[in-house]
Amino acid sequence: MAFYEQEWETMPLEKLAAVQLEKFKQQAQRVYQNPFLKKRFDEAGIHPGDIKTLGDIKGVPFVTKKDLRDGYPLGLISGNWDEVVRVHMTSGTTGVPVAMVYTKNDLRTWSRLMARNFTAGGLQKGDIVQQAHGYGLFTGGFGFHYALEEIGAKVIPTGAGGTERQLRLMREWGTTVFTCTPTYAVYVSEVAREKGIDPGKDLKLRLGFHGGEPCSDEMRARINERLGYTAHGGGMRRVYGLTEMGGPMAMDCESVTGIHIWADHYLVEVLDPETLQDVPPGTPGELVLSNLSFEAMPILRYRTGDRVIVDFSPCPCGRTHPRIVKFLGRVDDMLLVSGTNVFPSQIEHVLLKHAELSENWLLVVGERKGLHTLEVQVEPVPGAEPGEEFVNRLEKELHSYLEITCKVVLVPCGSLQRFEGKAVRVLDKRKKDRN
Ligand SMILES: [Zn+2]
Repeated sequence: MAFYEQEWETMPLEKLAAVQLEKFKQQAQRVYQNPFLKKRFDEAGIHPGDIKTLGDIKGVPFVTKKDLRDGYPLGLISGNWDEVVRVHMTSGTTGVPVAMVYTKNDLRTWSRLMARNFTAGGLQKGDIVQQAHGYGLFTGGFGFHYALEEIGAKVIPTGAGGTERQLRLMREWGTTVFTCTPTYAVYVSEVAREKGIDPGKDLKLRLGFHGGEPCSDEMRARINERLGYTAHGGGMRRVYGLTEMGGPMAMDCESVTGIHIWADHYLVEVLDPETLQDVPPGTPGELVLSNLSFEAMPILRYRTGDRVIVDFSPCPCGRTHPRIVKFLGRVDDMLLVSGTNVFPSQIEHVLLKHAELSENWLLVVGERKGLHTLEVQVEPVPGAEPGEEFVNRLEKELHSYLEITCKVVLVPCGSLQRFEGKAVRVLDKRKKDRN
């Protein structure tokens, strides 16, 4: 098992905690320079100088996505604007974007922590990487690119799209690693099949680093098989990140026992979203993160809205840092349907257990006589002919899993929309009275 910064990655927990405390104190001093955050600290009755133990950080006020949106573009900057060399932001399709700005040191830190991830995932100097995360305002493309170069991999910066060309380049250059969203990975495998390309035989792909959206275990299993990762002795690594924390930041290691978060760069808390107290180890809660390393716009105690289970015990790979062992959903993606919470990832979990169905589906949320309705459009894989009995069985399975009635509609193979970046799986036709 290879390491990028072995001493840091395998640091004993007590030593890691001491590093976290020192860095948190320093970051608290830094964010206290920002007028908005200073006011928050003052209102909470805490001064950075009061933080003497890791327990004391519980008095530090939270930051929410609303704070970041309200403060767009630079309301939460704590460092010096003159030192900023890069700007990224979210797409803002659901409202005002969230921005992140970086100093040279921030970019260097980011590359190094991402290089740890790629190395932990099994990527080596000499690997030929087709980097198909979008370049641009999105953090994924550049975040991956510079870390891959840092390791000494050979990067082919295709960006997203141009699927036939992606496949041609994979053949011509003997690409061994592919990076993009899980959705796009699936789409590339579909086009390969249409073109008569068998990735297990005709390509050399062994690793995929796929992030930017949630991915069920079922989806991962399909990608591993369809793109030939399993055939070549490798596999897909999940990626987790947030623009608010700098971008992609955490990935699976080779043992695939959970997504490692580097505790010397990010302080991890898992809290009950109601009481805001720590949940017992191994139980689900909201992930709350503090950026311990960035200079320009470090965010402390950020409420991610992501529901996760975190394992704080060391990983079989030898790394001591915490791992997200289960990702239950992002609150932003959650739908409230007739009083029941529905995560689109739950639907994918049920659908992809069926080999008859493709990875493409669409959830349509509607309204009839004041009641919310759910319809899932699914399409069969080429050659499969699921019938009425299959539809009935699937409706029962969805009902027992979601605890809500869901109509299943079979649509022709290949008729649902494909995506080059993140998939849009939900069409909400209800009248919008909420923000
Ligand atoms: Zn590990």
